[in-house]
Parts: sequence; C-alpha cells; structure tokens
Amino acid sequence: MIEEVKDFQIDTKELRRYKKLTEPKIWNEIQRLSLKLKGKSIAHVNTTSHRGGGGVAEILHSLVPLMRDAGLDVHWFKLKASKSFFKATKNIHDTLQGDSRNLTEEEKNLYLEESKKIAGDFEKVQADVWIIHDPQPLLLPNFCSSMKNSILRIHIDLSKPNEDTWNFLFPHVAKYKKIIFSMKEYANNRLPTDKIVIFPPAIDPLTAKNAPLKKETARMILENLGLNPGKPIVAQISRFDVWKDPIGVVKAFYHAKKIIPDLQLVFMGLTFASDDPESLAAFNEIKRYAKGDPDIFAFYYPRNLQYDNNTLINAVQTGADVIVQKSIKEGFGLTVTEAMWKKKAVIGGNVGGIKLQIRNGYNGFLVSSEEECGARIAELIKNKKLQSEMGRRARIYVEKHFLLPRLLRDYLKIIDEVVA
Ligand code: UDP
Repeated sequence: MIEEVKDFQIDTKELRRYKKLTEPKIWNEIQRLSLKLKGKSIAHVNTTSHRGGGGVAEILHSLVPLMRDAGLDVHWFKLKASKSFFKATKNIHDTLQGDSRNLTEEEKNLYLEESKKIAGDFEKVQADVWIIHDPQPLLLPNFCSSMKNSILRIHIDLSKPNEDTWNFLFPHVAKYKKIIFSMKEYANNRLPTDKIVIFPPAIDPLTAKNAPLKKETARMILENLGLNPGKPIVAQISRFDVWKDPIGVVKAFYHAKKIIPDLQLVFMGLTFASDDPESLAAFNEIKRYAKGDPDIFAFYYPRNLQYDNNTLINAVQTGADVIVQKSIKEGFGLTVTEAMWKKKAVIGGNVGGIKLQIRNGYNGFLVSSEEECGARIAELIKNKKLQSEMGRRARIYVEKHFLLPRLLRDYLKIIDEVVA
C-alpha cells in the first residue's frame, strides 16, 4: 500500500526567506532552474514522515515545501508494508553496509512480492520524475510502468556491500537513471560512473529545531527535564540504534566523569513510530547498563514530555556543553550538522559522513574509541575557549556546505538532467 503525505502534514516554506543564507552563485542557479522546471511533477517515495523518524523524513519535511515554492508540483508518498517486509529491508540495509549475514531466500521473495504489490498501487500516480529514497522502495520502478524517470537517493555506504545482497539488488539499482550518494567513497564501483551523482544532505536553518534559541531558555528546558543546568552536560541525540553506539557513549561518559565528577549525560531519541521493537530494545539496554545512575538521562517517549520534538532537540543541542555522535556507522549524521550549526564542538565517531563534516582538531573532534571520546569530552568541558573556537568554525563550515538551499540546487540540477 501507499499513502500520500497530506498537505496539512507538510509545512509551507518561502524560498525568499533563505536568500540571505545562500551564496549568490547558488541562488542564481536556483532561480534559473526553477524557471526552467516550473510545473514539473516530482514524486518522492520513502517509508516515514515521522519527525524523529530519521534523517530522510527530516530532510523531506523541508525539501518538499521548498521545491513547491520553487514552482514544482511535488508529492510525497510513504510505503505501507508488512512488518516482515520492513524486517527484511532492515536486513537489506545492514547487509548493504557490509553485514556478512546473507539474506534468506524467504526474505528476498517477500521483498520482491510485496514490492510488486506496492508498485501496482503506484500505477495510477503520474510524475515526471520519481525520487526513491533508500532500499525499502528500491524495487518499485522495476515493477511500475509509470516510474520511468527514476532517481535513487541512497544514504548509506555502498562501497563494500555483502556480495549476495548486492548481486540480488544490482540489476535493479543499475536501471535507475541516476544514483545519488552523499560522498564519492560511498559509490559502488560496479555502477556506471555516468549515473553516479554526489551530494551530501543538508539541514534547514529556519526550522524551530535549528533557529536560534537563547542559552537560558535551553537550560530552563533542560532543568524541566530533570537535569541540573549548573553542572556540565554532554548529550547524544539520535534514534536508539546499535550503530549509534549508545553503550559506547555511556562508557565514554564514565571515562570523562573520572575527570569531571559532576558531569551529566543526556540521550534524546524520541520515538514517534507506534511500534519499533529494535529502538525500544536499545533504549532498555541503556537503562539496564546505566543501573539507575541519576546523572544519566535517556528520553524515548515523547508523550511524557511537555515540549514538542523540535524544541527539545534545539534545547539539548543548544544547552549541552558538548555534543557527541559516537556512531560506528553513519550515512551522514544530520545531528552532527545541527549541533555544529549551533556552534557546538562536536565529538563524532571517525566514520562515514561524520568525517565529511568534522575536520579533526579544527571544528570538532573525531574519535575511534570510548577512552578517546571520554578524554575529548573532558578536554572540551575544561577548555571553554577551545569549545567556542571550534564551535565558531563549525558554524561557518555548515553555513558553507550543508544548508538547505545548496541541497535544493543539487536536486533541481539532477531533475533537470533527467527530464532533459
Ligand atoms: N531526531 C529528532 N528527534 C529525536 C532524535 C532525532 O528529531 O528525538 C532527528 C535529528 O534531529 C536528525 C534526525 O532525526 O534531524 C536524524 O538524522 P541523522 O542523519 O542524524 O540519523 P539517521 O536517523 O538518519 O540515521
């Protein structure tokens, strides 16, 4: 089944409000391409529109309205599929990132058969260009005659996939007109180079999540969440997921606590999906590991909190002294960008898209172990000058590379190439 994300669920946005944050060259390209593509219909397909549901939903909530304001006729569809389908696609996702466990024949058949059914629902939808996000809807263009002009936007590293999964998917991926990766290192060398396009994601500087928030307001919100704003705070914001290494963060926190005894740790990983057993298991694992430590705060259920998601994320990113994103694998890591935009010195795992954002020792730190992460947390908490100098550089770096208008330009360019 498919479901269109309704207009009332998507904000409206005005492109002109972004002008002062956009380089003139990019702004002019947006203007030129918007005129050329006016009225073209674009369909985005992914799996969720939940805020907090991950980076793709986050981006589409801003990109879709901005593309609309640029004059395109944009629609956003979500897949509705069985639990077993999503279980299989989670395994596909993990094996594409290199997990050595092969998919079972049953999983492959289920993925094929259910994709065929979903594709049938799409036959009645017409669009000039389809943008398919990530592996879940990846097979649809193969089974749907109306999806001729399709672009695959893949957010993960495809350079060293599990061979069995890749042999299974490759013929489908190779049929796309273009395949977008966040970094060139992620592209798979079996794919024809003329189909590969590289551009990273971006954040929306004008959402409530990323707009300026007074430090005092942020600290007050943290106090209402039970923290002591007078004591140092380190935070990780992300879905509860083993790839984000939450237990590693707790271990790093304990290393840092030997030097900063009153340090507090916050995890913010709110769930808006009605049923997500894996994140619940990861959340419970932290609770177990922390053994009721009053300095460790982990937030999972939004219904118990008196603020909306964007306000909470902004408050934690603004109010914490140090932000950590200690992922073991990370497609891009919008949480890193968001915190850097708020002038935070971020300590990130030395992996994937985090490496694209943090230049070690310049605008943040890259770390490869819990000990190193703990040492950097303590170093930054003790050295306010270093914190603010790195944070200042972090903001400039994001402004130059990772803001929404640049992403809009990149999408308009590729759409233009596909419809030409
Ligand atoms: N996020 C959120 N609420 C939460 C936790 C995360 O809105 O409680 C957002 C976060 O601000 C970011 C996105 O979810 O915009 C996560 O994107 P990222 O690229 O960091 O990771 P992904 O979840 O896509 O692996």
